[in-house]
Amino acid sequence: MATLIEHPCVQHKLGLIRRVETGHKEFRELATEITKFVCYEALKNIRTREVVVETPVASATCREIDTDIVVIPILRAGVGMLEGILELVPTARVGFVGLYRDEATKEPVTYYERFPPQIKGGTCIVIDPMIATGGSTVAALDLLKKRGADNIVVICIVTCPEGIARVEQSHPDVPIYAAAIDRELNDKKYIVPGLGDAGDRLFGTSHH
Ligand code: URA
Repeated sequence: MATLIEHPCVQHKLGLIRRVETGHKEFRELATEITKFVCYEALKNIRTREVVVETPVASATCREIDTDIVVIPILRAGVGMLEGILELVPTARVGFVGLYRDEATKEPVTYYERFPPQIKGGTCIVIDPMIATGGSTVAALDLLKKRGADNIVVICIVTCPEGIARVEQSHPDVPIYAAAIDRELNDKKYIVPGLGDAGDRLFGTSHH
């Protein structure tokens, strides 16, 4: 299940982050801003509990978040979305997963993992700006479930039908929230039109 965030404020920023002339400083700022809006929508149905607080005037019945939130960036590009999540949920815990693709088998291999224990019983938010083939998303979800997570959402900036289908097939219980669902993948497995290599654009490591 993929949800597209169609709000004009998100779509306007998407038009800016896609542009080839957008440099890494502005790209990072836009990634943070877009992520915040997408996350806002993704957390719409998290569990809350009733609390009564005292205002200077009277008691007020309020709702506070009643679940541990763990955000998990997929290294490296996922780190570019972390700030946006933490601005919205400052108390979130952070886990990390690092994956590389084995050139012989073409399968993702985990080279780093570090998760807080709250992935069990809490709400996990996996972040990766581009869900292209969906291969690393599926690998991260496989790993998280193996470690005990059972309530997971995925947030990205851009995805495509192939990526959504791959995640849905392996993890139909995991919703995906995106600011864009693009047309297709090219032969280098880049999203078209996409925004290029998100890691390079976030961290200023592209060669042009
Ligand atoms: N990863 C990226 O950074 N960009 C793409 O287009 C696909 C995967």
